[in-house]
Amino acid sequence: MTKYKTHEYDVLVIGAGGAGLRAAIEASAGDVSVGLVCKSLLGKAHTVMAEGGIAAALATVDERDNWKVHFADTMRGGQYLNNWRMAELHAREAPARVRELEGWGALFDRTPDGRMLQRNFGGHKHPRLAHVGDRTGLEMIRTLQDHGIHQGISVHMECTVVTLLKRGDRVVGAVAYDRERGGFLVFKARAVVLATGGIGRAYKITSNSWEYTGDGHSLAYHAGAELIDMEFVQFHPTGMVWPPSVRGILVTEGVRGEGGVLRNKDGHRFMFDEIPEAYRAQTADNAEEGWRYTQGDRDARRPPELLTRDHVARCIVREIKEGRGSPHGGVFLDIAWIKEKLPGAAEHIKRKLPAMHHQFLQLADIDITKQPMEVGPTTHYVMGGVRVDGDTQMSNVPGLFAAGECAAGLHGANRLGGNSLSDLLVFGKRAGQHAAEFAKQNEWLNLHDDPIEGAVRAALEPLEREGGEDANNAYRIQHDLQEMMQERVGIVRIEADMAAALDGITGLHERARTVHVIGNREYNPGWHTALDLRHLLTVAEAITRAALERRESRGAHFREDFPQKNEELSKCRMVIRKGDDGAMRVERTAVSEIPPELRQIIEEMK
Ligand SMILES: Cc1cc2nc3c(=O)[nH]c(=O)nc-3n(C[C@H](O)[C@H](O)[C@H](O)COP(=O)(O)OP(=O)(O)OC[C@H]3O[C@@H](n4cnc5c(N)ncnc54)[C@H](O)[C@@H]3O)c2cc1C
Repeated sequence: MTKYKTHEYDVLVIGAGGAGLRAAIEASAGDVSVGLVCKSLLGKAHTVMAEGGIAAALATVDERDNWKVHFADTMRGGQYLNNWRMAELHAREAPARVRELEGWGALFDRTPDGRMLQRNFGGHKHPRLAHVGDRTGLEMIRTLQDHGIHQGISVHMECTVVTLLKRGDRVVGAVAYDRERGGFLVFKARAVVLATGGIGRAYKITSNSWEYTGDGHSLAYHAGAELIDMEFVQFHPTGMVWPPSVRGILVTEGVRGEGGVLRNKDGHRFMFDEIPEAYRAQTADNAEEGWRYTQGDRDARRPPELLTRDHVARCIVREIKEGRGSPHGGVFLDIAWIKEKLPGAAEHIKRKLPAMHHQFLQLADIDITKQPMEVGPTTHYVMGGVRVDGDTQMSNVPGLFAAGECAAGLHGANRLGGNSLSDLLVFGKRAGQHAAEFAKQNEWLNLHDDPIEGAVRAALEPLEREGGEDANNAYRIQHDLQEMMQERVGIVRIEADMAAALDGITGLHERARTVHVIGNREYNPGWHTALDLRHLLTVAEAITRAALERRESRGAHFREDFPQKNEELSKCRMVIRKGDDGAMRVERTAVSEIPPELRQIIEEMK
C-alpha cells in the first residue's frame, strides 16, 4: 500500500482562481468545512492575468444599461446557443457580485465624480466593464484571497488532482499529488466543485498559462460527466506575434476599447470592410463616429474593431492569408494614433493601459504611445466544458459541481470579453452555495482503497518505465499535440484536417501510454507534464469530435467546408460523454427553447 495523507472536507473545491475562491467563500458561509486545492501558489491562478475588466450592467457610466441589455448582448454574442437560464442569472446577478467585491475591498477605477468607471468592450452595447487599469484580474484575486483566508478555508497549494473518486454514481473525493515533494494526498468529500479553468495549452499559440491543461474537463468526463459546446474555442484576435518567445501573449481588447484601430500593411483600416448583418445597425460606418463612441459619445455606434472576437479574428486571418499582413505574420494595432485627437495622449495611454505599455516595451522594444503593435489571433478561452444545471451548477454526476471556465453554457458559441470574470463571481457563488447544501443533505461515504491505489500506480508509471526514446518524451508528445491542434483544429477548420487530427490523437494516446520520465518525484516538471497529457488528449479529442459533428459555421467555430449557418444545427448542442466501452461519444441534443418573456427582451434589443 502506498502511503498517503487523507483530508476530509464537506466541500472540496479544486482550483483557486476567481471561480474556485468565490465558491469556497460561499461554501464556508454555509457552515461546512471547505478544502481548496490548487496547482500553483494561492493567488497565481489564471484569473490574475485578466486585464480588461468585469462585465456587469451597473449603469454607472450610461444609465441606459440594465440586465436586459446585458442578457440580449450575451445571447447575441453566443449566437443563441447559450444556456438562456445562465445568461439570465448572469446578467441579473453580476452587478450585485461586483458591488460585493467592492465591499470586500476591491478598488475599481472611478469617474471624476466618484462612480465606478466602466469601459467599452466588444459586443457590449454600453460601457459595461468595471476595471482597474488593465490589471483587473489582479485586484479581483487579491480581494477574494484576502476575504477567503478569513473564512476558515483550508488551502492546499502546489497540489494537483489526478482523479476523482466515486461511490456508485456519486463523487466522494479526489486523489492528488504534492508537486513539491511528490507525495500523494487523498481528499474525502461530500461534494466537489471543479474550478480548474481552461484548455489553452492544447494549442501551440495561446494566451493561457501552463496551468490550462483542461484538467477539470477531463476529470469530470472520466467520472461520467457530460461535456458540451467543446467545438467552441475562442481565438482572441489580438495576441503578440513578435518576438517568437512571446508569441500568443494577450493584448487586451481594452486597447481597442480605448480607441486602438486595426490596420493592414497598406495602412488600410480593414475592419470597416465586412460588418455582419446582425451587428450592422449597431456599428459605426465611419472612423469619426467610431472614435466618438470610444470617448463616451452616447449617440455614436461602436467601431468595427469592437465587433465580437470570432469575427475580428477571422478578418485578421483573412488579411494575413491574402498577403496584407505585417512583417511577422500579424496585422497592426495602433493606439498611438490617438495623439491626433487627444492632448497628452501618451500619458493617457500609460494611465489607461499600463500593463500593455510595460509588456510591449519590455518584451518587444515597442513604445505603444509612439508605434503600432503587431498582433494576431491566439487561443484564449474555451466556451465548452462541464454541462451543469444553470441554477445549482451541479453536473449530471451527483455531488460534482463546476464553475468558471471549466463549466459550460453561459457563453454559447462565443464569449463576450468581460463576461468571464462576472461568470466566475455569479456561478462560483452559486456552485459554493449548492455544494454546501448538497454536503449537508448527503451522508459521508467511505472511500475504497482499490481506486486510490490504482490512481497512485498510474501516476507513478511514467517514472518507473524503462525508456529512452525521444518519441516517448512527455514534452515531445505535448509539443506534437499542440502543433497538430493549431494546424488542424484551429480558427479555420475542414473535415479532412480534423479527421487526420483524430488519427493523430489516437497515435499520441499510444505514445502517452509509454511515456517515460527521468528523475525523481521532487518537483519534477517532466513528470507533471506526463500526467497532464491524459487531460490534454481528452480535451483535444472532445474538441475535434464536436467540431467534426458541427457541419456549419457559428460563433468561434468556422468550417471552410460549411461556411454558412445551418438552421437545424442552430437548435442543437453537441454533447460529449464516455461510452460504456470507454470510447468517447458525441451526440446532438436539442437546445432548450428560450421562454417567451426572454425572447421578447432579445427582440426588443435587436
Ligand atoms: C491574459 C488573459 C486576460 C484575460 N482578461 C480577461 C478580462 O479582462 N475579462 C474577462 O472576463 N476574462 C478575461 N480573461 C479570461 C479569464 O481570465 C478566465 O476565463 C478566468 O480567469 C478563468 O477563471 P477560473 O476561476 O475558471 O480559472 P483559473 O483562474 O485559471 O483558475 C484555475 C485554478 O485551477 C487550478 N487547477 C487546475 N487544474 C488543477 C488540478 N488538476 N488540480 C488542482 N488544481 C488545479 C489552478 O491551479 C488554478 O488555481 C483573460 C484571460 C487571459 C489569459
